[in-house]
Amino acid sequence: MFDPQQIRTHFPIFSHRPELIYLDNAATTQKPISVIRAISDFYEKENTNVHRGIYEMAASTSQKYEEVRQKTADFIGAAKKEEIVFTSGTTASINLVAQSFLIPRLETGDEVVISMMEHHVNLIPWQQACKLKGAKLVVAPINKAGELDLKIFKSLLSERTKLVAVTHVSNTLGTINPIGEILEMAHKRDIPVLVDGAQSAAHFDIDVEAWDVDFFVFSGHKMYGPTGVGILYGKEEHFTKMLPVHFGGNAIREVRFEETVFALPPRCFEPGTPNIAGVIGFGQAIDFVSSFDKKGVKYHLQRLTELATEKLQKVKGVKIVGTAKNKSPVISFTLGNVHPHDVATFLGAENIAVRAGHHCTQPLMDFYKIPGTSRISFAIYNTMEEVERMAIVIKEIQRFFNGR
Ligand code: PLP
Repeated sequence: MFDPQQIRTHFPIFSHRPELIYLDNAATTQKPISVIRAISDFYEKENTNVHRGIYEMAASTSQKYEEVRQKTADFIGAAKKEEIVFTSGTTASINLVAQSFLIPRLETGDEVVISMMEHHVNLIPWQQACKLKGAKLVVAPINKAGELDLKIFKSLLSERTKLVAVTHVSNTLGTINPIGEILEMAHKRDIPVLVDGAQSAAHFDIDVEAWDVDFFVFSGHKMYGPTGVGILYGKEEHFTKMLPVHFGGNAIREVRFEETVFALPPRCFEPGTPNIAGVIGFGQAIDFVSSFDKKGVKYHLQRLTELATEKLQKVKGVKIVGTAKNKSPVISFTLGNVHPHDVATFLGAENIAVRAGHHCTQPLMDFYKIPGTSRISFAIYNTMEEVERMAIVIKEIQRFFNGR
């Protein structure tokens, strides 16, 4: 039986702030005690660098670090741990693919296909690469509900397309994209695909090998793990052809003044001292997420989303932005002429944390002709009572600003 009250006991923040209603999970999730302990234990009891020392404590740290790589590979269904690169987050992972994979392959007249709903980080690196190389960024449109039109998407793919980069789940609209169909369309034309899993890794079944995805990227902090740790999954066939773009210690086999021989992937993509404690904490986050029945989690999040949608729709002036049939637990909305920042400030004064603004998707806001939205996003520890409370406060905000 899925019990959010019991789950809350894993999260110390809720005992420190019992009044907190945290509905900003798409920005970052709270951290369970197991993750916090793993990080503080590491610093307290076995702090060393990795892949350098040969004394017992250093070797043990290196081993633990590499065990998390294997755990990550298992978590997302990668064939080999060598297909996992630790980065500082989704942002770093996408930039690495742009610089190390795309730019060397991109030529004048080539194209990169993204969608209208991408987070800025799944847009700007490709846009800048295209500018650099005289290539074109092609944007697949969406309908008003926030769904991709797959027929149009398919028509945008051609022999000029060098990469497709799409989000699995939209952080602003909650739309779940049909990744399987997108991959099939792209692969029919031998086009590699990067999937941004920042909003899906925590609660969705991920199987990169079964999907046959070329690159999959996500951040630890959006799945109950620490900030500063992210994952770049890449197919071995791509990694072995990519050259590192960041250089430094620990990522090499041999260095002479004239030439450097780099280490094999993934090590060549991780120069310098990594976020060791973060990676160890991230390993605990994977254990934490894996300890729940995914179906139970999905059902709980769906119930929260349905209740919140129903309650919000009853408030005069509320317009939900993003009404895709297939939606994750993210609800963006506008409230008449009330600025989203006012909504978030008012909710904040009632200890209800939500995000307001453009959510790093400005072109998407332009499409809807709005400056921003207020956004509610759920995680496993949220409760139906919290949704009820949130809806009452939204009603109060509506009355406050509109006097009715
Ligand atoms: N992609 C999506 C869909 C996101 O929601 C986010 C963060 O909000 C990112 C990428 C960037 O993630 P990070 O800031 O952890 O690098």
